[in-house]
This record gives sequence, structure tokens and C-alpha cells, in this order.
Amino acid sequence: MKKITILGSTGSVGISTLSIIQQNPNLFKVVALVANTNVSAMLKQCELFSPDWVAMRDEKCAYILRKKLKRRKIKTQVLFGEKDICALASLKEIDQVISAIVGMAGLLPTLSAIKAGKIILLANKESLITCGDLFMKALSLSGAKVLPIDSEHNAIFQVLPSKVQKNLGTANLKENNIKHLILTGSGGPFYKFPLSDLSNITPEQACSHPNWSMGKKISVDSATMMNKGLEYVEARWLFNALESEVKILIHPESIIHSMVQYSDGALLAQLSVPDMRISISYAMSWPDRIDSGVDFLNFSKINNLSFFEPNFIQFPCLKLAIDSFSEGQAAMIVLNAVNEIAVAAFLESKISFTKIYEVNVEILTSLYFSQPRCIEDILEIDRKTRILAENKVLSLVC
Ligand code: NDP
Repeated sequence: MKKITILGSTGSVGISTLSIIQQNPNLFKVVALVANTNVSAMLKQCELFSPDWVAMRDEKCAYILRKKLKRRKIKTQVLFGEKDICALASLKEIDQVISAIVGMAGLLPTLSAIKAGKIILLANKESLITCGDLFMKALSLSGAKVLPIDSEHNAIFQVLPSKVQKNLGTANLKENNIKHLILTGSGGPFYKFPLSDLSNITPEQACSHPNWSMGKKISVDSATMMNKGLEYVEARWLFNALESEVKILIHPESIIHSMVQYSDGALLAQLSVPDMRISISYAMSWPDRIDSGVDFLNFSKINNLSFFEPNFIQFPCLKLAIDSFSEGQAAMIVLNAVNEIAVAAFLESKISFTKIYEVNVEILTSLYFSQPRCIEDILEIDRKTRILAENKVLSLVC
């Protein structure tokens, strides 16, 4: 039985993970759960899964949860704060850590799991794209393993040769006869919107993804296509891929979740209904497969599978992320931090949808940092960028 910590258990990925565990109670045991402030969701998860440990990022919420658990005679120990979250990510008895906290807040807990040599099922792409080389070096130093659960990267992982699967991040794609990794993306809810209408988009519209049900931050990133840009960066690190080896293709139906093109011209793709439980269950059970609880794809109901080149004019955030990666690690940290602030401001209706890009570009071009050499450097770049980005947002609101 695999023992698991879920970082971000009350979120979209966390909930999907717990539903797989419910489907396969003999294969997995929940040892620890982590969230930010959502006490009621965490209480229900404690009732259902009886974890040994829970950590809330917020101290007050941990206190309230502790009281409610005591009243129900549930023995789960409740901790709080980032240090305790990192401790739950590296517990001795844990086999797998699901890294599904949203944003930069996932970085230190994910690194803690890496340092402890765990198997990390990575949804929190922000920790990889902001940490890059240090993340990959920490993996090889500790002997930890990372398995992708972002659906595109998981799809690629599923159709890679097992030799490459076992040496993720170090295997040379060319030597393994891999020509291209093709990341597909739906284009989000506004792929066909007239450019002139984009500034009037509301947070509700931006969070209504046509095919996927996800947390708010990644939903907005999908709508700006920043998410596809961050996924491009994630793919470059995760698969040790060169610029020429990663392609992006718009596929509005979200049936093909990504593809690998081999040097003989063969193209291997992973297809399914769009449901994160497939990616998560594959990573949880790899190299085997288990029941994910997902409906099977019915080909007779698919009328059309279409494909387009990405449109950088409609979606400038996509290009911005790709370009930032070639600028270096510091630029990626800055972009990630500004984007988190800009998306949060949009979700609070402080700035318009199109201002997300404008804030990103302005901060990115006005800052210069030397390349980070350690985790402290990364956190410092992130911190300074957030201050500037918050000020920029304030100036737009006034
Ligand atoms: P959600 O917003 O749905 O959930 C976020 C989770 O993180 C919640 O459990 C939240 O707790 C917790 N959290 C937030 N801040 C903190 C913090 N400071 N400390 C501890 N816990 C915190 O996000 P998603 O599940 O959609 O996404 C999670 C990650 O997975 C993101 O990095 C996203 O890019 C990635 N991802 C998501 C996909 C999806 O389909 N949703 C697909 C591919 C990748 P609380 O509920 O208390 O706020």
C-alpha cells in the first residue's frame, strides 16, 4: 500500500486525487493532507480519510479545525504554517507526495519532498519553472523522482519509451529517436473571441473553461494562454528538451492531450475524455495502471478533431512565457510572480483581462536581476517582484 501526502488536498487536483484513492482503497493510504484556509473541506476530508496529520497554512484555521475534529473525536493531528507543511511533505513513512498547492507557495514544500527523496507527483508547475536547474539538480542529488500530472506532460510521459520515463530530465531525446514533443492546448474559452472584446471579459467568463474544471488561477492562465507558455517551460525542464524539440498546437476538443513524434515519422498520442483523474491515476500507479473512475472515450460521439497553430497576437502571454524562458531563470521567476499578482487582481475585478498581459510586460521589462544561485536568491527575486507588481496594480486601480 502506497502512503501519500497531498499538498493542496482541498483544491481541484487534490479532490481528484482523493477520488482515485476512494476508488482504490487497498492501494493507497492518506497519511497527510495540506491546505491553506478551507476548514470545512478539510474537515470533511478528515472524516472520510482519517489522515494521521493535517497542516493548514493559516494558524487560525488550524485552531478552528483542531477544535472541530476534537468535537467529532477524530484523532488527526493538526499543524500549521509553512515549516510544518514542509515537514509533512518529507515524513519518513511517505512514499508519494502530490504537489498540488497553487502558485509559488508550492515551492518550498515540493523542495522539501525532493530533499527527502520522495516520489513527487507534480501538478505545481510553478515550483519547476521558477527553480529550473536547482530543482533538477536537487532531484538527482537526493534520488527523488518526479512524475508529471499536468495532463499534457503526463500524456507525453505515457507515450515515451520506458528508458526515457525512468530517466526523466536527463535522457537525451535525440538519442532516443524523439524528434518533437507536441503540447496540445484547447485555446481556452476565448480562442475565437474578437480581439476588441477581450478587455470586457469578466472573471466568471475567464474561469469557465470549455473542457476542463480547474482552480481559478490556472483557469485564468488557460484563458490568457499563459498556462500553455508555462507548460512549454515545464516541458523543457521535465523532458530535457531543446527549443526546437517542443511544439505547441491548438486542439479545441481536448481529446488528444499531447503527442510525441519519433524520428521515423510515427506519432504517438494519448487520448481520453478531459479528466485529470487519468493523469493523476497513471502517475500514482506507474508503471502499472489502475481504475481512475473516468468514463471511456466514445469515438462515435466525436464529430471532429481540429488543430491550429497558436495565435500570438490574440494570446501575447503565451509568447511572453516562451521568450522569458530564453532570457534565463531570473526572468521566469519575475514572470511567475507578476502573473500571480496580476491574475489575483483580475479575479478581484481590480484590473481588466487585457491588463494581465500589460502588467506582466511592464514589470518584466523594468526589472533586471542576476541569475539566482540558490533558493534564497529565488525567493528574494520573487519577493521584490511582488512588491513592484502590487504597486503597479494599485496605480491602475486608482
Ligand atoms: P486550486 O485553486 O483548486 O487549489 C489550490 C490548493 O492549494 C488548495 O488546496 C488550497 O487550499 C491550497 N493552497 C493555496 N495556497 C496555499 C498555501 N499558501 N499553503 C498551502 N496550501 C495552499 O488549484 P488547482 O488544484 O487547480 O491547481 C493546483 C496546482 O496544480 C497549480 O499549480 C496548477 O497550475 C496545477 N494544475 C492544475 C490542474 C487542474 O486541472 N486543476 C491541471 C494541471 C496543473 P485552500 O482550499 O485552503 O485555499
